[in-house]
Amino acid sequence: MSQKKPEKLIDENDIRYDGRKLNELRPVKIEVGILSNADGSAYIEQGKNRILAGVYGPREIHPRHQALPDRAALRCRYHMAPFSVQERKSPAPSRRELEISKVMREALEPSVFTEYYPRTAIDLFVEVLQADGGTRCAGITVASLALADAGIPMRDLVSACAAGKVEGRLVLDMNDAEDKYSDGADMPIAYMPNLNAVTLLQMDGMLTAEEFEQALNIGVEGCKQISQIQKEALRAKYVTVKEAAPEKEEEADKEAKE
Ligand code: ADP
Repeated sequence: MSQKKPEKLIDENDIRYDGRKLNELRPVKIEVGILSNADGSAYIEQGKNRILAGVYGPREIHPRHQALPDRAALRCRYHMAPFSVQERKSPAPSRRELEISKVMREALEPSVFTEYYPRTAIDLFVEVLQADGGTRCAGITVASLALADAGIPMRDLVSACAAGKVEGRLVLDMNDAEDKYSDGADMPIAYMPNLNAVTLLQMDGMLTAEEFEQALNIGVEGCKQISQIQKEALRAKYVTVKEAAPEKEEEADKEAKE
């Protein structure tokens, strides 16, 4: 059973079929530190996407021959659960998942001070529980928070989001139907806002040079909005800890001062 094609993806008032404006993100909800057995974790809902990220490390690396003499090896696994799409997906890793695991590592690595932990591994697992387009970007966003939650020193958070073209219009953060039923373009972007650096730029489809520039700007603006939500999610975790055990926090503050 597959989703039906909406009659029009964008109406005459520039409203998309799910009610969003052209440059509007899907609703994003993030929670940090939700798994007790991983060193760091985070969960994101972006539209209908549901994605969980867990991090272990820095820790001893196995197999040893993967050790890097000058830095930690960041190893990523992006995986879609069999129930994450309408037709059951085979749990075996597909070529697409291998590709996304690789681009995810490349998008996140510039943000991590891997040189602080030579010959170790930082293992990152991204599990897509429900997919609705743009999962590599939402996966990067949530993975970056899981790394921060693990206490790994970072230069910046990485925020990711796609821009693209649907029925001839440039839009932000396409969902699966917009991606599937429009012969436009899809451009996933990952961005470090404090360093003003793009760490992932891919493109599927066709854009003119001018459209490309515009789409890049729209995408980067989207990443900046996501970055705000990431920061709030990180803060929320520590506020909750403080509220749950105020005396312990005060003791810890006292000890730190001594
Ligand atoms: P992204 O999720 O980063 O946009 P793609 O453009 O490759 O990556 O995929 C777009 C969407 O297609 C996914 O988010 C998912 O909703 C859907 N999809 C991917 N793989 C499958 C699959 N094996 N079966 C059904 N739908 C899939």
